[in-house]
Amino acid sequence: MAPTTLVKSPRKLAKVPNLLRYEEGIGPEFFSRAREELDGLPGGRGLNIAHEAVDRHAAGPRAGQLALRCLRKNGKVHEFTYAELALETNRFANALSSLGVGKGDLVGILAGRIPELYVAALGTLKNRSVFSPLFSAFGPEPIHTRLTLGKAKALVTTELLYIRKVAPLRDRLPDLEHVILIGEDGAETNTEGTHDYRRLLADADDAYEIGPTDPGDVALVHFTSGTTGRPKGAVHVHEAIVWHHVTGKLALDLHPDDVFWCTADPGWVTGTSYGIISPLSNGATVIADEAEFDARRWYAILAEQGVSVWYTAPTAIRMLMKAGTELARAHEYPALRFLASVGEPLHPAGVLWGVEAFGLPFHDTWWQTETGGIMIANLAAMDIKPGSMGRPMPGIEAAIVHTREDGGVDLVTEPLEEGDLALRPGWPSMFRAYLGEPERYEKAFAGGWYITGDLARRDEDGYFWFVGRADDVIKSSGHLIGPFEVESVLLEHPAVAHAGVIGKPDPVAGEIVKAFVALKPGFEPSHELEKEILAHARVRLGAVVAPKEIEFTDAVPATRSGKIMRRLLKARELGLPEGDVSTLETAE
Ligand code: AMP
Repeated sequence: MAPTTLVKSPRKLAKVPNLLRYEEGIGPEFFSRAREELDGLPGGRGLNIAHEAVDRHAAGPRAGQLALRCLRKNGKVHEFTYAELALETNRFANALSSLGVGKGDLVGILAGRIPELYVAALGTLKNRSVFSPLFSAFGPEPIHTRLTLGKAKALVTTELLYIRKVAPLRDRLPDLEHVILIGEDGAETNTEGTHDYRRLLADADDAYEIGPTDPGDVALVHFTSGTTGRPKGAVHVHEAIVWHHVTGKLALDLHPDDVFWCTADPGWVTGTSYGIISPLSNGATVIADEAEFDARRWYAILAEQGVSVWYTAPTAIRMLMKAGTELARAHEYPALRFLASVGEPLHPAGVLWGVEAFGLPFHDTWWQTETGGIMIANLAAMDIKPGSMGRPMPGIEAAIVHTREDGGVDLVTEPLEEGDLALRPGWPSMFRAYLGEPERYEKAFAGGWYITGDLARRDEDGYFWFVGRADDVIKSSGHLIGPFEVESVLLEHPAVAHAGVIGKPDPVAGEIVKAFVALKPGFEPSHELEKEILAHARVRLGAVVAPKEIEFTDAVPATRSGKIMRRLLKARELGLPEGDVSTLETAE
C-alpha cells in the first residue's frame, strides 16, 4: 500500500530537468509536439529511425561527438563518433542491399553487446529492413522459433554463436538466405554458407541515401512471451522514434551531452529502445559494456566513463545492494545525475539505496515490449513515491479497469482498487500487430483500451502501483519467459509425461523458473533424472530460460480442456489457498 514518504527529486541537479511541470505535457496534442523534435528525412521523404538517431547528428554540430563507446570483455574499447557511425552504418546498409535484402525483409541479430551489433541494427533500419534482436543467451530452440516466426531472410551473428546454436538448425530455416558472421576480435571468418561481416563491409560503399520511409513502415519486431502458444512478435514502426526520443528526453531526462548507460541487453526491447535508439536520437554518448554483471566493474564504469544518466533494472540493483554499499562508495561519481530502473517492480528499499550509495534516488519506470517505450514514470522533476511506478507520461492516458466477459471494460474510479492496467491506444511507439496473428492482437484490446496484462492500482495522486501479472508469464532477472515454451521443451525429454512451469519468488531474480514434472510409467524420480532433465532444458533453451528447479509430482493439474493450471501450482508452491478448482482435471 502507498507509503506516505516522498523522495524529493534532488534539485541540486547539474541540469534543469527537461520537463519541469508534469502538467505541461498532458493531452494527445503532445504527440504532434513531440514529432516536431525530429527532422524527418531530407526532402520530406518520411521518418526513419536511423536517420534521426545517427545521420542528422552526423550532418550537424555533433558530427565529431562520441556516439558510442563499446567496452569489450578483453579490455579493448571501440569508439564511434556520430560521423563514423553514420559511415559504418551506411556500409552495413549497402552490404545488406548488395545481398538482395531490402525493405521489409526481417534481419535477425544474435550477438552480445559488441560494436557490430549496434552498427548492424542501425544499418538494417537505414536499409528499411526490419531489425529483430535475439538474445545471445538463448539456446537453439528459442532462436529457431523466433527466426521461423519472423521468416528472417538474414541473420547477423558471431562465428561462435553460429557454430554452437544456429548451424545445427540451418536446414530447418528455409527462409534464411544469408548469414553474416562476425569473427572473434575482428578476425575474418570462413565458415561455409555464410558471409564475413568484415569483408562485406570493407567492400561496401560508405555513402548511402535512406530511401523514402513512411512513419508506418515496419522497423522492429520484438518477440515477447505469452502464457500460451508460441512467442508473439510485437511489430513496431519507424514512427516509434518519436516516442523513443521524447521519453528519453522527459523520463530519463537526457540532455545532448549526457553519457548514458543502459545496462539492458539489446536482445530485449529496453536494450534497443533505450540502449540504442533513444540516447542517440537525443545526441548523447552511449556506453555499452560487453561483460556480464560484476559489481566492481559496474562501479568502475560509472565512475571512469563519467556516466551521467544510468538506466538499469531491479535485479541488478538488488545484486549491487547485496555486494554492499561500501563497494559503491569506493568511487566518486561527480558526473552522475539521474538514475532510473525498469523491467520489474522496484521496491522502496531499492529506490532509497540509490540515495545511500550515490546520493540519488532510482526513478522507477514502467513499460513493456508492446508499448515500445516508457509509459509510466517517476519523472525528474517529480517527487518519487518509493515503490510506485510513477505517473503516466505526458500524452499517455492510463487507467485501472475491470475487463468484462462481453469484451467491454468498467473503469475503476476508487483510489487503490486493484484492476487491469490499461492504456488508451494511439501513442507513436505502440505495437501495430502481433506478427501473423491478427486475432491475438485484437484480443489485447477491450472497450477502446489496450489491456497490458498487468494488475495495478492508482492512488489519489495519480501514481500507479504494480500488483502483479494477470497471466502466468514469468519475470526472471528482468527477462519475460513464457511457461509454454519451457514446458514444450521439457516434454521432449523421454521421461517427461506432463510439465507445468511457474515463477517461484526469489529475493534477487524476482522469480526463478520452476518446473513441476510428472514422469512417464517406468521412470522413477531421482536426483540423476532431475539433473538430466535440467541439462536437457538448458541445452535446448539456454540458461536464462531453462528451469532452475524441478519438482517431481504424481500429476500436473490441468483444466478439462487440457490447459495447465499454473495458478494452482503456484498457490501450492506458496502455500496459499487454491481457489476455484471446479474445472480441474489432473494430467497423470
Ligand atoms: P517486457 O515486455 O519483457 O519488457 O516485460 C514487460 C513486463 O515487465 C510488464 O508488463 C511488467 O509485468 C513488468 N515490468 C516492467 N516494468 C516494471 C516496473 N517498473 N514495475 C513492475 N513491473 C514492471
